[in-house]
Amino acid sequence: MTLEIDTHTHTIVSGHAYSTLNEMAQSAAEKGLKILATTDHGPSMPGGAHPYHFHNLRILPETISGVRILKGIEANIVDYNGSLDMPDSDIAKLELVIASFHEPCIKPAGKSIITDTLLKVLENKNVHILGHPEDRRYAFDYENVIKMAKESNTLIEINNSSLLPTTFRENCREGIINLLEVCAKVDAKIVLGSDAHHSSSVGRFDYAVKLIEEIKFPKNLIINRSSKDFLDFIGLN
Ligand SMILES: [Zn+2]
Ligand SMILES: [Zn+2]
Repeated sequence: MTLEIDTHTHTIVSGHAYSTLNEMAQSAAEKGLKILATTDHGPSMPGGAHPYHFHNLRILPETISGVRILKGIEANIVDYNGSLDMPDSDIAKLELVIASFHEPCIKPAGKSIITDTLLKVLENKNVHILGHPEDRRYAFDYENVIKMAKESNTLIEINNSSLLPTTFRENCREGIINLLEVCAKVDAKIVLGSDAHHSSSVGRFDYAVKLIEEIKFPKNLIINRSSKDFLDFIGLN
């Protein structure tokens, strides 16, 4: 399977990642990607980027090493009302917005609270992707949320890093299989993200692709097979 876009990557700006944007773009070019989204952690993550980092992304060139750079953020969901750690007026100016739960920014809660939180996040038209939603510390009603994600044109991320033996997230493989089954059932689109924190992992989708092939997930629901389809989907074409 050829995948043209990596929608989830971190640079040294995230505080616990280890490559520069130029190094990430160079790696993306070597791996044949057409688009690299740079999505550093929002300001409430310890060591995360200052809001000025996101305001100033506009000064970057459109391409680096021949790869189109999407200026984005992995924003933190910071309360059970679905608030993010950057104002809507700021994230509306970014090209790609992932919204994720991270334990330093919001404590895990019961399934009904997390379900309601995600439904509120999905009301935010600036959010394009729910990041690593398989994390069982933040379990939710998959069918309810994924149906709403489809309606709101929000993508469900399959996070390759969550499937690596080194992950700290819990029961990810089981959670991802469940997510994929519901996405297939309700015809909701998914996106594969490497969640690379070093240039060597840019475009790394091996574990996610293996799992998708194992369970025979419909390939037409994988948005990053075509950079044109992806840009159309997020309204950038
Ligand atoms: Zn994350
Ligand atoms: Zn991330």
